Order: sequence, then structure tokens, then C-alpha cells
Amino acid sequence: MDGFERPIEILKGIGPGRAKVLGEELGLKTFRDFLFFFPYRYVDRSKFYSINNLNKSNTDIQIKGKFLNTKIIQQKAGKRLSGTFSDGISTIELIWFRGFKWIKENIDLESEYVVYGKVNWFDNRPTIPHPELTKINNYNIKNISGIYSIYSSTEKTLRYGISQKIIRVAMNNLIDILKDELTESLSNKILSELKLTSLKKSFSNIHFPKNDIDLAKARFRLKFEELFFIQVQLLKRHRNNKTKIKGYEFSQVGNLFNTYYKNHLPFDLTNDQKKVVKEIRKDLGTGSQMNRLLQGDVGSGKTMVALLSMLIALDNKYQACFMAPTEILAFQHYNNLKSMLNDLPVNIEILTGSTKLSVRKNIHEKLLSGDINIIVGTHSLIEDKVLFKNLGIVVIDEQHRFGVAQRAKLWYKNKFPPHVLVMTATPIPRTLAMSIYGDLDFSIIKELPPGRKKIKTFLMGENKRLRVFKFLKEQIKLGKQIFIVYPLIEESQKMDYKDLMDGYESICREFPLPKYRISVMHGKMKTEDKDYEMNRFLQGKSQIMVSTTVIEVGVDIPNANVMVIESAERFGLSQLHQLRGRVGRGNEQSFCLLMKGKKISNDAKLRLETMAKTSDGFEIAEVDLKIRGPGDIAGTQQSGIIRLKIADLVKDQEILQIARNYARILIQNDPNLNHEDNKNIKSELNKITYNKKIWNLIS
Ligand code: ADP
Ligand code: MG
Repeated sequence: MDGFERPIEILKGIGPGRAKVLGEELGLKTFRDFLFFFPYRYVDRSKFYSINNLNKSNTDIQIKGKFLNTKIIQQKAGKRLSGTFSDGISTIELIWFRGFKWIKENIDLESEYVVYGKVNWFDNRPTIPHPELTKINNYNIKNISGIYSIYSSTEKTLRYGISQKIIRVAMNNLIDILKDELTESLSNKILSELKLTSLKKSFSNIHFPKNDIDLAKARFRLKFEELFFIQVQLLKRHRNNKTKIKGYEFSQVGNLFNTYYKNHLPFDLTNDQKKVVKEIRKDLGTGSQMNRLLQGDVGSGKTMVALLSMLIALDNKYQACFMAPTEILAFQHYNNLKSMLNDLPVNIEILTGSTKLSVRKNIHEKLLSGDINIIVGTHSLIEDKVLFKNLGIVVIDEQHRFGVAQRAKLWYKNKFPPHVLVMTATPIPRTLAMSIYGDLDFSIIKELPPGRKKIKTFLMGENKRLRVFKFLKEQIKLGKQIFIVYPLIEESQKMDYKDLMDGYESICREFPLPKYRISVMHGKMKTEDKDYEMNRFLQGKSQIMVSTTVIEVGVDIPNANVMVIESAERFGLSQLHQLRGRVGRGNEQSFCLLMKGKKISNDAKLRLETMAKTSDGFEIAEVDLKIRGPGDIAGTQQSGIIRLKIADLVKDQEILQIARNYARILIQNDPNLNHEDNKNIKSELNKITYNKKIWNLIS
């Protein structure tokens, strides 16, 4: 088994430098991580285009031919390499803006190449920026035809030269190395009844499918596998310990809670908030560990619930820990809690990535001595050095930004695991959640605090842009602030960046200094710079914030009342909903303007119409589930609650059902997995337990 724990740096073409980047950017460290790094999309590369026949609807294309020449062109914007590439009939320009010295030196005018990339159109002439080049020779022609996997990348992995080709070569190497170790994990009964492809073949086919059928079979097998083992573990555990995990018993609601509740509440709780606080109080008093998921739409007031829950822990002489996904959010919570608890004897500190070493040490000590009652922070809180005197409760806000594994680590720090309250604004339907979580408890806040005005949402075509600008100016005149968000989608970060910067420039022209001040924020910026811009906006020093989706989660800026979303058709529904939730937090009327392109798919249309029609997060989630298109392997698990590697709790409900049935039969007939035919399953389960996989993480 340990073969799977080997570091990826020993794979062909990776090496220590790239391994480090892949680890940091995509969490790929071991062979196992890499094996499960599934393509997020596939393209058909059995087809070659002729340059003559290209049209504007072609996106990913592949051409075969030769370079006629290459030249470096000097322009105001900088240098670029331009190559004229011919397929024998006509020519197309290939362009590189970066790393072209090496490319120029290596292009061989005598050889035939396959060129693959996305087409851009300028003045009706097609070009391909940064195409993938493969020299044709006898060896590799088979690697570039047929179905082709596309893997996620980030700005940084690209900058380090980790191309699709590099990933594929390394993956090929990996599968080759592991061919003897990828042993079967299911019983013959299941394999034959469901006509499943072997495990080894499935891994090979998911990364290098020869045709659609093999790919579909591989997917089915791996999805089944993933869901089946989760179900087996759920059922097994359910059998083994009918009682819950022991936890701290917070028998009393004491002074802090009562004082705060009676004298310091800034508003009346909504009925839903009251209901949830009651549920939590009850949980904390049972002597079993609380493990509760609180779902509540953006702005529904989850923070107050967290605060009251933490006060109960404090009243019982325990500490509380409040984790946020970003530094900005952590500070916001920290300041918020501090001011709310101003009059009470509660010591609150904050720990984030940018906490100075000396301060950090001091905080570590005070956590250990118990001097700190509530610690707020980012994932800096999960470092091994952070130890508590007696951590009683952990609140995790907007958990979908945290890896599940990180969550798990917190649990094993003390004698009893602390109570856990996970708060999320991404609702998933209850039935679905139950089938994956088993005995996790749920609380739901449906009701928004009183007095909230419904955010007015409008769909706007490009022809309305001037009207939009005029409207924004009016709002700024009223002293309001505005978000303008551009899409950022993994597969074409570079283009999106360009969209953002083009957009930013045009906004700057439309809203000139000194009358208007504009902040800009995107993923490429350093954290300090982002925080700086964010704070400028928070303090009202800039009126417009132009950004990518980095502002998506949680930030509370009551004075911002307009959210403009550019190319809204390119966002997923839950993302649109999250973004819209950034406004409408004050008492004034808020607006969400969804700018849409000319050509949009039916799904996109439905998404936008749903947004215009409703603001109920649960309703939106339901629609979202229905329209997630095929091929979006990464979709739900990224926004959802549990990070599955391949199965999708929404789209694969049927497979989930099958997996659940097989798991139930298995555990009924052979609870200890002693039958000969179940020995693969048993040994796979042992591996999973050994590796502290999903089970430890979600239970
Ligand atoms: P979320 O659930 O999105 O985390 P927050 O906890 O940030 O929501 O609350 C959003 C805003 O609503 C905050 O400004 C908070 O002070 C306010 N709020 C929360 N509960 C109530 C309430 N019961 N009545 C009035 N305002 C409330
Ligand atoms: Mg929140």
C-alpha cells in the first residue's frame, strides 16, 4: 500500500520544483493524490481542423502541419513570439507572450507538428495563443489522437511550465509504475453483477480513455467504488457503536450567556435563530459530542448563533475556536465579536498567517494556559503547534473553503473531541445530505432578519451598458458603494485576467479620478495587496470594487448596495447566489445587475432567470442540482459539503442508491467481512481506515 504514499517528484517530468508547486496549488503530493487527480473535462482529438474552415464557434481545435517561420515581434505592450503555421493549404498565426525564447529555439521548421489550443479572433483572423505543440513522430502520434483528458491548472502551475502534456506524461508514468499495486478492491459478486471494469483498467481509462464507452465504464466503476466504501463505513460504524462519541458535557448555561442574552443582544433573535440556539444548547448538554451542520442563507445571522454557542462553552470553563476561510473574514469576525462582547470578561484573540512570530508565540502560550477564551483565525489554527488548555467547541464558518482533512485534525488534539458546529450558506437538500452523512445533525435557518429588503435583480444585455453606468453614478452620488465582478474560471485564467483588466480600464475611463476611486482585486495579487484594497473599500475610501470572485465568501460591507456581475452566464448558480449575498446587508434597497453576453446556453438562461425570480437559497440549490450539466466532474463537490473525488452527490444519486443497496446487503450478510469473496473489500477497508480517509474526516 505504501507505494501510494511515494512523493510525486519522482514521476517523469515532475521533479522537486514542480512537485512543490503542485502540492501547494492543487494539493497533489503523493502518488495517491495524483492518481485521483481526475481530468475535469475531455476533448475529442481524433479530429484535425483545416485552417480554411475555422469559424467563430470553434473553441478547442487541433491542426496538423509545419511552421513556415517564427519571429519575435516588438510592440508597445511587450514582445511576443509569432509563428506562421501552415496546414498545407492556409496559414494561421500562433502566438506566445511568455517563455518564447525556449520555444523559438526548439521549433523545428522541418518537422511536422500537431498544434492544439483555443482559437482567438482578431479582425476576423484566427490566432492561437500559447498552443500546445507536439512534434509528430512514430512514437507519440497515438498519444495525441482520440479522447484527451484536461486537468485543472492554476496561474502558478502554468507559470512553472506544468502543462497538460507534462501532467499526462507523469500520469502515464504513474499508472505504469502502479500497475502491479492497483489490486482489485471489490468482490467477484459485485464485479460480475454490475459488470464492472477492473480497478486497474478503470484508473487507466479515466486518465487515458480510448473511447466514450471505456470512459463511461471507468467513471461508473470509480464512482460506485467511492460511494460504496463510504456507505460500507457508515453502515459498519452505525452497527458498531450505536451510542455517540463521548464529548464534554456543558451542563449549565451560565453567567456569560445569560448576561449577554439579557443585556447585550443588539437585536431580537429571529425565530429560526432561537430554534437553532435551543438545538445546540440541548446537544451540548448530553455528554456526547455535538456534530452539527448549520445551514443558513447568506445574511441569515449565523454569526450570532456561533457567538451564543461559544458563550455556553465559556460558561463551562472551556475555550472556543472560530475558524474562517480567509484572513479578511477572520478579521471581520474578530472585530465583530470583540465589539459585541466588549462589556463582558472575555478574552478574544486572532491568529492568522500574517500574525507576527512574537505575537504568535504569545498566543500559543495563552491558548495553552487558558488565558484566551475565544480564538478566531484562519487555517493557521490547525497547525500542530496550536494547543489548547481545554478546547470545548469549534465553529467553522463557510467550511467549503476548508479541506475536510484540515477539519479532522482539530478533533484529535484533546482528550475528548470538541463539539463542532459547521456553518454554511451553501444548502444541500436534506435527503441528499442524510445519505452521505448518516448521523450528522442538521439545523436550518430559513428566515432572514426582519426589515431586509429583497435585492432587486435585473438581467441586462450589453445594449443597456450606458444605462447601467448612469445608474451606478446615481448610486455613488447617494454615497453607496458598488461591486463589479468578473468571472474566473480555471480553464482559461489568462483570458479571464485579460477580461478583468480590460473591464477595469473601461470602468476607470467611465469613472475617472478624482471624483471616483476604484479598487481592484484578483487572485494574482499578494494577500497583503488584496487586504489593502479590501480595507480601502471597507472604509469607504473607494466607491467601486472591481474584482474576480475572490470576494465571494462572507465579506460584510453594509454600505455596498449594488452588485454588478459581468458575463453572468459564466457563473454557476450557487456562485451567483453567494455573490449577490454580498449586498443587501444594510437597510437600504440593494440591486444585483446580471450582465449577460449575446450567446448564452439554455442552462445559463435558466440560471439567470432563476436568479431574477427568487432569492431563496434552498430553491436556488434545487434548481442548481437539476441543471448541472454533464462533464462537470468537479462541480458539486467543490461547492458542496464533502469533497468527493469523482462521484457527485447530485448527479450520481442513482449510483449512490445502488452502492447503498450493495453495502447494506454486504453488512447484513457478512458484518465482519470474513467471507472469502469479500476479502478484497476487507483489505480495501483496512487501507482506508489506515489512511484515515473520508471516514475520519466526516464522522
Ligand atoms: P451570515 O449568516 O451570512 O453569516 P451574519 O451573521 O453575517 O450572516 O448576519 C448578517 C447581518 O445581519 C449582520 O449584520 C448581523 O448583525 C445582522 N443580524 C443577524 N441576526 C439578526 C437579527 N435577528 N435581527 C437583525 N439583524 C440581524
Ligand atoms: Mg457569515
